Amino acid sequence: LYGAKRAQQFSEVYAPAPPARIPSVTMESALRESLRDRHFRLAYQPQVHLATGQLVGAEALLRWTHPVLGPVTPDQFIPVAELAGLMPRLGEWVLRTACHEVTRFSNPHLSVSVNVSSRQLSDPTFSSRVRQALSDSGLRPQRLVLEVTESGLIDNPTRVREVLQELRDLGVRVSMDDFGTGYSSLFSLRSLPVDELKIDRAFVRDLGQDTQAARESLAIVMASVLMARALDIELLAEGVETPEQERALREAGCDLGQGWLYARALEPADFDAFEQTWPVRLLGDRPATPVPAVAT
Ligand code: C2E
Ligand code: MG
Ligand code: MG
Ligand code: MG
Repeated sequence: LYGAKRAQQFSEVYAPAPPARIPSVTMESALRESLRDRHFRLAYQPQVHLATGQLVGAEALLRWTHPVLGPVTPDQFIPVAELAGLMPRLGEWVLRTACHEVTRFSNPHLSVSVNVSSRQLSDPTFSSRVRQALSDSGLRPQRLVLEVTESGLIDNPTRVREVLQELRDLGVRVSMDDFGTGYSSLFSLRSLPVDELKIDRAFVRDLGQDTQAARESLAIVMASVLMARALDIELLAEGVETPEQERALREAGCDLGQGWLYARALEPADFDAFEQTWPVRLLGDRPATPVPAVAT
């Protein structure tokens, strides 16, 4: 609701590419070239606190436009980068760039969420790399959220638990991405130090309609809310596209929303402009309980 009109003023600069079939060998060498020549950018998608309407932070999403191949979506190139062993380097770039860019935003309380691949997570030096990125950028650890996926968590559970604990000790928050689409989620939730759950957009899509699918999705959301509250975890719904979905999520007690209803992923300058015109300003850091909303 807050974002519906405003979002239209800001178009997505790094628009998703039409699906192209690029042979993975071609893509692999293009990826190496682009790591060298800096063809990558980050785009920032707002996250909104549903009860107060505060814009609380952004997810940094990787964008790649190769001079010859054109724009390629993360779903196309990240699997190739993983297989080619390029993800540690690319992920490191994302982490460092996101930490730097978010310190230039006008609001000093916004959080930034960074996606972490399973290869990064199992790297024994990962938490010291995070510490380094924080100190080089001057970003307070409370403002950094690391998004991990369920598959990333089960690869090497013992080691991963240690890494997550090290990250927590730094003051960084951990979010479980695409929740509900992986395996063994319920057990890992209780046994791993997780601060936020992102409900996959598959469970958001049908919300707010008068259909059986909507009722089923709502039941899953409501169960997630109960679970998140019991475990003291924040719940964020991804892929919020309509006011009806937003309303259903808010009424179910979901804490946060992210999706095209508010805005697509925006380049840094546009994100900052967007945030500054947002009606309800965030006046303190997350995850301190939502600061009272102040209408501006
Ligand atoms: P994700 O982390 O679940 O990110 C959310 C994806 O949903 C993004 O796609 C975003 O643009 C898209 N999205 C956001 N709102 C909506 C909406 O309302 N409707 C719909 N239909 N889609 C929405 P994107 O940017 O194409 O990224 C896809 C995936 O690629 C991400 O899924 C994440 O798993 C991965 N990814 C992106 N950037 C990075 C990165 O820097 N590192 C790693 N390891 N993975 C990344
Ligand atoms: Mg994510
Ligand atoms: Mg996600
Ligand atoms: Mg997803």
